[in-house]
Amino acid sequence: MQHRVVVVGAGFGGLEVVKGLAGAAVSVTFIDRRNHHLFQPLLYQVATASLATSEIAWPIRSLVWNRPDVTTILASVTGVDAERRHVLLEGGETVPYDSLVLATGARHAYFGHDEWEPFALGLKTLEDATTIRRRILVAFERAERETDTEKQAALLTFVIVGAGPTGVEMAGTIAELARDTLPRDFRNIDTGKARVVLIEAGPRVLGGFPDDLSEYALRSLRKLGIEVELGRAVSDCNADSVTYGDTRLATKTIIWAAGVRASPAAEWLGAPADRAGRLQVMPDLTVPGHAEIFAVGDMVTVNGPDGRPAPGIAPAAKQQGQHVASSIKARLRGDAGPRPFHYRHQGSLAQIGKRRAVIDFGWIKLKGALAWWLWGIAHIYFLIGSRARLSVAINWLWIHARNQRGARLITQGEAQIDASGVAAVDELATADALRRPPAADAMHAPPTPQ
Ligand SMILES: Cc1cc2nc3c(=O)[nH]c(=O)nc-3n(C[C@H](O)[C@H](O)[C@H](O)COP(=O)(O)OP(=O)(O)OC[C@H]3O[C@@H](n4cnc5c(N)ncnc54)[C@H](O)[C@@H]3O)c2cc1C
Repeated sequence: MQHRVVVVGAGFGGLEVVKGLAGAAVSVTFIDRRNHHLFQPLLYQVATASLATSEIAWPIRSLVWNRPDVTTILASVTGVDAERRHVLLEGGETVPYDSLVLATGARHAYFGHDEWEPFALGLKTLEDATTIRRRILVAFERAERETDTEKQAALLTFVIVGAGPTGVEMAGTIAELARDTLPRDFRNIDTGKARVVLIEAGPRVLGGFPDDLSEYALRSLRKLGIEVELGRAVSDCNADSVTYGDTRLATKTIIWAAGVRASPAAEWLGAPADRAGRLQVMPDLTVPGHAEIFAVGDMVTVNGPDGRPAPGIAPAAKQQGQHVASSIKARLRGDAGPRPFHYRHQGSLAQIGKRRAVIDFGWIKLKGALAWWLWGIAHIYFLIGSRARLSVAINWLWIHARNQRGARLITQGEAQIDASGVAAVDELATADALRRPPAADAMHAPPTPQ
C-alpha cells in the first residue's frame, strides 16, 4: 500500500504541501471545510467593493484536477486520534494517515471580548468580506434616507480597529470608496464627508515596518482624510458606538483588524501552544512526540536559528509547506533525519490607497507610487491563473483611471429589508451574528496583535 498523506487545510501552507508532493509515491487526502483556496491578502478589496469574490478564490478541486494521486474532501476536521493515526471529521467519519500535515490557519480574535464580534467585523473568509461590504454599502444607503443629522453622522462614520497592514489597507480603500467612487451615485448625502477613523493601541501605524515607512504611511493616511488615533486601546464595541481611551464615537460600522488566534489543532493533540493558541512545533515542523505529524502556517509558532519566530504571513506558510513536502519525500527515500526549517524573509508590503504603498525588502525600502506599482505586480503574480490575473489587473486599472468599483453589490441581505425597503444596520449586526457559523476554532487563550 502507498504511503498515505493527509493534509488538513487548503490555504497557503496546505496547498504548497500538496504541490510539493507531486510525483512522490504517496496517496494524498486533501481536506478543507471550505471548497476554495482563498488569497487572503486581497480580501479587503472584496470587502470594499473593488474585486469580486471569484477573483481571489479558486475551487480546491480545480487546483488538483490533474493530480490523480490527490483525493479532495469537503469536511470540517474536529480532532486527531494520534494513537490510531486517524483524522476525525465532523459527523463521526475518520480518515487514516501515515503522515499528517495540519495547516488550519488562524482567525481574528477580540482580546477576550468575543461579545464584540457581531459589531466589530473581522476579515478572514469570503463571507466576512461580503458581510463587511454589505454593512458599508447599507450604511451609505441608510444615510441617504436619514433625516436625523446625528444618526446620519453615525452611519457615515467608519471605524477600523488595528493599524497593521490589513487595517491600513482597509482604511485607505474605504476613504477612496467614499471620496472618489460613491459621490456621484447619491443625491442627498455627500459621501465624501464620511469619516474614516483608524484606531491603534500601539504608538504607530504599520508597527512591523521601519519607522520612516510607518511615518510615511501615517502622513499618507492623513492626506486621504483618515483620522488616525494612536496609543488608544478600544474598550467597548456595540451596535451604536466604539469606545477608545476616554472617547465614545457614534458609528454603525466597526471593522476589526487587531488580533489573531490560532485554530485549535494544538488542543486536538494536547500539544504545547503559545498565548495565541499557536502549536509549538519542533524545528523540523513536527509536533513534539509525533514525528509523523507536521504542522505549518499561521497555526504554528517556530523559532528560526536567530531565535525569532517566523511571521504569520503567506510566504512563511508557503515555505513551511514546501519544507514539509520535501521532508516527507526524503523520509520515503530512507533519509529519516530531522531537517530544520529556515525561514527566508522576502519583504513586507502594504498599500495605502490606490496610488501609494510601502515596501521593506530589508536591503532596500520603497515608498510612494513606485512601491504601489511593485505591490500591484507582486499581488497579481501570486494570484492563480491567467483569468484572475487579467481580471484583477483590469479592475485595478479601471479604479486607477476612473475611480469605479464594480462590485458595489449588497448581497445576503434580503431577509433584513425593513418596511421602508432599507435594511437597518443594527438589525444587520444581529442577523450577521445569527448567520455566522459557530467559531469552531475559537480558543480561549488571549490573542496576540496581528
Ligand atoms: C485580511 C488578511 C490580509 C492578509 N494580508 C497578507 C498580506 O498582505 N501578505 C501576507 O503575506 N500575508 C497576509 N495575510 C496572512 C496570510 O493570509 C496567512 O499568513 C496565510 O493565509 C496563512 O496560511 P495558512 O495555510 O496557515 O492558513 P490559511 O491560508 O488561513 O488556510 C487555512 C485553511 O484551513 C481550513 N481549515 C481551518 N480549520 C479547518 C478545519 N477544522 N477543518 C478543515 N479545514 C479547516 C480553512 O478553511 C483554510 O482553507 C493576511 C491575512 C488576512 C486575514
